[in-house]
Amino acid sequence: MINPAILLTPGPTPVPEVTRKLMAEPMFHHRTPRYRKIFGDVSERIKKIFMTKNPVYTFAGSGSLAMEASLVNFHSAGDKILVVENGKFAERFTLIAKAFGLNPISLKIPNGEAVPPAQIEEALKKDPDIKAVCCQLCETSTAVLNDIKSIGEIVSKTNALLIVDAISGLGADRLETDQWHVDLVIAGSQKALMLPPGLAFLSVSEKAKQRMATAKLPRFYYDLKHYEKSMKDSDTPWTPALTLVVGLQKTLDLIEQEGYENVLKRCAANAAFTRETLQKMGLKLFSKAPSSTVSAACLPEGLDGEKLCSIMRDEKGVVIAGGQGEQMKGKIVRVCHMGAITKKDIETGLKILGETLKEMKASSGSCCCSCQ
Ligand SMILES: *Cc1c(COP(=O)(O)O)cnc(C)c1O
Repeated sequence: MINPAILLTPGPTPVPEVTRKLMAEPMFHHRTPRYRKIFGDVSERIKKIFMTKNPVYTFAGSGSLAMEASLVNFHSAGDKILVVENGKFAERFTLIAKAFGLNPISLKIPNGEAVPPAQIEEALKKDPDIKAVCCQLCETSTAVLNDIKSIGEIVSKTNALLIVDAISGLGADRLETDQWHVDLVIAGSQKALMLPPGLAFLSVSEKAKQRMATAKLPRFYYDLKHYEKSMKDSDTPWTPALTLVVGLQKTLDLIEQEGYENVLKRCAANAAFTRETLQKMGLKLFSKAPSSTVSAACLPEGLDGEKLCSIMRDEKGVVIAGGQGEQMKGKIVRVCHMGAITKKDIETGLKILGETLKEMKASSGSCCCSCQ
């Protein structure tokens, strides 16, 4: 691979140099006033990104750990949960639920489409036993943005919890956790938050907290009871990924310096530029509900998308993502515009995508979207 490569994948994303340098400082101990000061500070300030007044818990682990924590801390065996399935990550909720003996009901939506909120309303009316609704803010595998605001309005009128996986989206797509009545928001460090992988986050509403008291599924490492107790002393129950927490403090500085609203605007503008450029190349967009986190385009029929991505990566130093899952593998490409990804890198990446497509004898303008 050509180094430094231009990284346009949906995580890990580029980490700013100031953050990297800070994380290379000598190690220190975590049961100290020094660490508690940093952790207390980031735990407060990250609430602004979540747009919540409720606690945001930080785990050492990848985003999926917080997905598991969001189900296990709030449910008992046999509980019914409604899972919006419109892509690869959505399916993960179902897999976790099954592993813990929950009863997931899949609401299947075609890949590339957002869930119509009315379908959630209907499902909840039909089955008042449903204990939670799970969906993605940005379904990273299809570049689809779900309408969390409308879904929140619906779910807040029921006893069900709304669980939103915002692992890729938080920090790029707007998510007003409290205003939109989202009970549990899941995030990860390695996407729009401009850090290496290794931190997972979960915000917990008052409604969710009450449910926790009756949830019987066995749990230990991510049992929020321990985290709640430690949080009172700006601490975590087990050894934190303190290097990353130090980096997180810098991420929050950077976001505050730019202004969070400006960050969202920048991501939206870069997303619009990406979609426009992909279309100018003759490619059709895959997502019918575009996101500011990642964009996806269909490749011309017969063109090997896997090969395209590896040529770009190994010969030209530009790393983009292909499709995931049976229907999309080899048939779409995904280009990100979240976090510290710059307009310049996007421009270079898209130029090289265009050149590589031509080299692979794909006549531009002939996309027939076999992927849909
Ligand atoms: C990346 C991603 C995940 C998986 O997160 P890990 O950190 O790899 O565990 C889950 N959901 C979405 C929407 C993602 O983009």
